[in-house]
Amino acid sequence: MISDRLNHVRAQIALSAERSGRNKEDVTLIAVTKTHGADIINEAIDAGVTDIGENKVQEILEKYDHVKPVRWHLIGHLQTNKVKYIIDKVSMIHSVDSVKLLDEIERQAIKHGVHSMDCLIQINISGEESKSGIPPRMLPEILEYCSKLEHVKVKGLMTILPKGCDNVTQNLLFRNINKIFLDNKGKTYDNVYMECLSMGMSGDFAEAIECGATMVRVGSLIFGERSYGCEKN
Ligand SMILES: *Cc1c(COP(=O)(O)O)cnc(C)c1O
Repeated sequence: MISDRLNHVRAQIALSAERSGRNKEDVTLIAVTKTHGADIINEAIDAGVTDIGENKVQEILEKYDHVKPVRWHLIGHLQTNKVKYIIDKVSMIHSVDSVKLLDEIERQAIKHGVHSMDCLIQINISGEESKSGIPPRMLPEILEYCSKLEHVKVKGLMTILPKGCDNVTQNLLFRNINKIFLDNKGKTYDNVYMECLSMGMSGDFAEAIECGATMVRVGSLIFGERSYGCEKN
């Protein structure tokens, strides 16, 4: 049952939040619904899910009209030419990684009458070339740029760790980005509010919270393993 799995995740969130000296209310659970249909998503919403995460624009568009009211988060890479499709549908874009994308978000927000679009800057904290996100050293430049965009509101940072990194590395990377997050909290740029740190997935969300995450993106632990339709059973 989805509600049982959800309760398990929520209990873990509460425990980890407490361990890091915070309340469970300080951590937002984003249920990652990619590859799952509207019925299952609605079941999760009935069980109290308020925020869902999708990594593909196309999937958001396919499901949008069939899913009950909920906050949608775009957590996967966003191509500039697809901003127009989701600008008035999602509550937050977690994967902002270029000035070009920021310009397009600003442009489409104006065009669609979206007063402000909450965004997170995706950081490539591991430095792995295959990972998306900006290197940490580029963050000041990007935030400075955002201060000139009136319809983009930067709410914080997001990161995805490399698959299969060991516990020590994982912890180090989570702590590194939390430090960048906290350092930037003290700085003031217009339109930048360092409130959200989105990190942690099914395998590591507890550690992520203990290292400062305020948003965790949990999929398979709630909905089961994903089938992409090409595996043999
Ligand atoms: C799929 C996905 C998740 C959730 O992964 P699980 O391991 O199933 O919890 C989190 N974040 C992003 C960006 C994803 O694409």
